[in-house]
Amino acid sequence: MDKCPICRTNNADKKNVHLIPWFLIKKCITQRGSGERDMELSFSIEPQKFTKIYTGRSILPESVDEFGELHDVQKENHNPYSRDNIICSECEEKLSRLEAIFASQFTDNKIRKAFQAKLDKINNHTIIVDKKYEESLYELLIQSIFYRCSIGGFNGFKLNVEIQNKIEINLRKAFSIENFKKIKQNDKIVYDYKFPIITTSFFISEGEDTTKNFIVINFSRFPYFIMTGKWMFQLFEANKHLKSTVEWLYGLQSILNASEIYNFVKNKSHIILLEEEAEKSISKNLIEYFTQKRIIGIKQTIRYLHIYTIGTKPENKITQYIYQRYFIHLNEGKSEFNSMVHAFLDLKKIS
Ligand SMILES: [Zn+2]
Repeated sequence: MDKCPICRTNNADKKNVHLIPWFLIKKCITQRGSGERDMELSFSIEPQKFTKIYTGRSILPESVDEFGELHDVQKENHNPYSRDNIICSECEEKLSRLEAIFASQFTDNKIRKAFQAKLDKINNHTIIVDKKYEESLYELLIQSIFYRCSIGGFNGFKLNVEIQNKIEINLRKAFSIENFKKIKQNDKIVYDYKFPIITTSFFISEGEDTTKNFIVINFSRFPYFIMTGKWMFQLFEANKHLKSTVEWLYGLQSILNASEIYNFVKNKSHIILLEEEAEKSISKNLIEYFTQKRIIGIKQTIRYLHIYTIGTKPENKITQYIYQRYFIHLNEGKSEFNSMVHAFLDLKKIS
């Protein structure tokens, strides 16, 4: 077995290591947002593949039936959000400590109170700074989320190797502190590498948030970006990138000027609560973006299948025909896989 890359001492023997902390994703990926373990019910949408569904051990088969017929290729057997054997149990417990501090410093209740307290605002976004929360612990947690997604290859995500190594060194140094598992939110820790971080969050009550079940990780590098439910984390490799970034981030970049806002939150344990309009437009952009990608993906699948089965590239009107038939079958309750098969059979009937 490989050694744990963080401590380099123990074996990387920990099973089921969450790439994104459970407290950040639990409401997104469990049935009706219950947040209970083994109640995972989530979909992966990738343009080139059929939608895949992952269900935890305690999900009843009837609940899965609600989503219509599923072909076997659409059933995900491995938990997409966790990995086995990437680090050791000891280091995982220390990561859990970092998570527990963040979760208790920024509870929903505290955020709500802070929001109502009319704090500093920039362009109507509310800035919450927790002075009792040592920023070295706050930043290390966020670094560790990107690090875990990178070593676990979450949705193909990768940090630049140099950055991944630097975060690994930070974690190694921090975790060598005696009694790290009991570290307090106001204990200052020292490590070598810092990266600009901007954390934003939606405020609206969760029931209304149409994107509350979205977990999105981008392939962008300037900045690295993870969105999970209402949380959005940006990590920049260097200060200079704050000014030069051109990433769209579903509209966040134009809503929040990174280099301007960073002056207010630099070296602070913070959350920027986005104003309602901003939140609505990001949600809308996200949905439109994924719908578009999905449409392009389905049409590509049709072209590939046509070449594969019939041997020629389809004319546009043929692609369009199969595309329409596909949705007719889908609406009749067939699985995505079977709908595609039937759409091709329909084509065969008429040609
Ligand atoms: Zn370790």
